[in-house]
Amino acid sequence: MAADVIDGKAFAAGLRARIAKAVPAFEAATGRVPGLAVVLVGDDAASQVYVGAKGKATVAAGMKSFEYRLPADAAQDELLALVARLNADPTVDGILVQLPLPKGFDEKRVIAAIDPDKDVDGITPTNAGRLVLGADALVSCTPLGCLMMLRDLLGDLSGLDAVIVGRSILFGKPMAQLLLQANCTVTMAHSRTRDLPAVLRRADIVIAAIGQPEYIRGDWLKAGAVVLDGGINRLPPAPGKAKGRIVGDVAFDEALPHVRAITPVPGGVGATTIACLLRNTLVAAHRRAGLADPEGF
Ligand code: NDP
Repeated sequence: MAADVIDGKAFAAGLRARIAKAVPAFEAATGRVPGLAVVLVGDDAASQVYVGAKGKATVAAGMKSFEYRLPADAAQDELLALVARLNADPTVDGILVQLPLPKGFDEKRVIAAIDPDKDVDGITPTNAGRLVLGADALVSCTPLGCLMMLRDLLGDLSGLDAVIVGRSILFGKPMAQLLLQANCTVTMAHSRTRDLPAVLRRADIVIAAIGQPEYIRGDWLKAGAVVLDGGINRLPPAPGKAKGRIVGDVAFDEALPHVRAITPVPGGVGATTIACLLRNTLVAAHRRAGLADPEGF
């Protein structure tokens, strides 16, 4: 049977449409729409594009977008004061400080200053703790998108063997907690794992988040596995080209004949991140207003 290529863009469009439908009910209950504030420090080109895309998606979902830009040489206290103002602003439900911050900023201190109930990127120590405890956490957007896509494709994940390759704080670790809560048997692999192919060959679900182009080969995968590739890697440019292709952590063409379903790169996992950010903003707004979480998210 031919494998499914999971369309992350279509998944994200569906999620954004459902969020846009849920916003009027929130507005009817509270008299306002959810608000997302994005803070960009410095002028990193990729971050500027990303922040612009977030702002547009927020407005398209019927929410309020606030954008703050500080110069790269702004003082740490200026950034902390802005975060404190956003924490206190009742019209702001989500705060996202675009990372990485320019040199000289104490990133840990800035993250710790964000109100955990507005931490829609799921990066504060409080939300990491809530996730482990099984409490109502706001969870990092990329692993959340992976879980939602898996649920969409497979329904109940109970008892499935899931192997996550990569143990970063923003991706691998929250992914493991989410899959554990979904009753998977979870293995976390990393750069010190012995015989990764053997570990992967028993996985029903493979999540790749290592940042190594096409590292995971097709014949390392179990027949019928579902593979979500979180890697975003640019190959060196081909002769005569200015830029190289973007590829994932999995050798896609090799994997395709082995698997039941796989996300492409680009257009897979990465395409869901902004939609998940809006989902987190909607959920944060409900919790802050003392309402039950919106259904179906
Ligand atoms: P990090 O660099 O923080 O972590 C990489 C992890 O992969 C580490 O745990 C490392 O192990 C592990 N690793 C590295 N090489 C190997 C290897 N050869 N075999 C097994 N494990 C290995 O990366 P991130 O989690 O931040 O990002 C991973 C990928 O996901 C990147 O390509 C990034 O661009 C992408 N990404 C995509 C996002 C999106 O779609 N929106 C969001 C975030 C990330 P160890 O701990 O032992 O060093």
